[in-house]
Amino acid sequence: MKIIQTINGIKKKIKKHQGQSIGFVPTMGYLHQGHLSLIEQSKKENDVTVVSIFVNPTQFGPDEDFNRYPRDLQRDEALLKELHVDLLFFPNSTEVYPSGYSTYVEVETMGKVLCGKSRPTHFRGVTTVVLKLFNIVNPTTAYFGQKDAQQAILLKHMTIDLNLDITIKVMPIVRDTDGLALSSRNAYLSTAEREAALYLPRALAKAKSQIEAGLKDASEIKTLIENELKKSPLITIDYVEVVTLDKLENFPKNQEGQTVDISMNNTLVAAAARVGKTRLIDNFILGEI
Ligand code: AMP
Repeated sequence: MKIIQTINGIKKKIKKHQGQSIGFVPTMGYLHQGHLSLIEQSKKENDVTVVSIFVNPTQFGPDEDFNRYPRDLQRDEALLKELHVDLLFFPNSTEVYPSGYSTYVEVETMGKVLCGKSRPTHFRGVTTVVLKLFNIVNPTTAYFGQKDAQQAILLKHMTIDLNLDITIKVMPIVRDTDGLALSSRNAYLSTAEREAALYLPRALAKAKSQIEAGLKDASEIKTLIENELKKSPLITIDYVEVVTLDKLENFPKNQEGQTVDISMNNTLVAAAARVGKTRLIDNFILGEI
């Protein structure tokens, strides 16, 4: 595995692989099995696999955890070597955003709901850095996790809207044995918080099984999840939303205006909650991103 820090350096390496398929997995590092599942998929489907590790400052708000975001390059390198990743791109923030940097790309509307409500500049940072990385790496296919469903949906939109010849593949959420979705931020949790965090996957699993048993009303699904989360004093709900998977819109009221039925093949049920100071997200989908 070659580790490359400069933009010109990675561009040169990529040029050598002209005519080959390039799979790309952008990450912020502190890798876990969720990241590794994306890399394994890329290895299966491409001639060359490129992973980037970049804790992207523009996707963090001023009061968020950019500075304390967990980092462990040595450990990440060892994991990537084991998977026989071809190229690790590990750029410097000052080269990605030189002084005077002023160009941003933003997916409107859909970037302002769900996580975009409490993190108003987050997705603009994500789409900007991913577009920059796409331009640098020039991948055939890029791999993202359903764990960040809204992010994957926005990135798919961006590639369509901007006519990028890149296939976006979205892989399933990888969970710990107890059900908690793997996340680099889980490292922040104390033992008691880790226990409380389990209310999130459990509440979603309960909603999913109720849907399978016939529950269809979006507001009842939302309330069910909220009530489950309220059982833990350590949890503060950021949002629980039941929206269409393709446009992240609320479902229309039925003719009597009483129930708001979800679609069995176009629904995203997503939640974000703080456990102590740690913000966690989780979701399930009916349909495909
Ligand atoms: P991050 O390093 O958090 O920016 O994540 C890099 C990529 O890994 C994103 O596409 C995430 O959606 C994906 N990812 C993170 N956690 C998981 C998980 N538990 N399961 C599947 N994919 C994940």
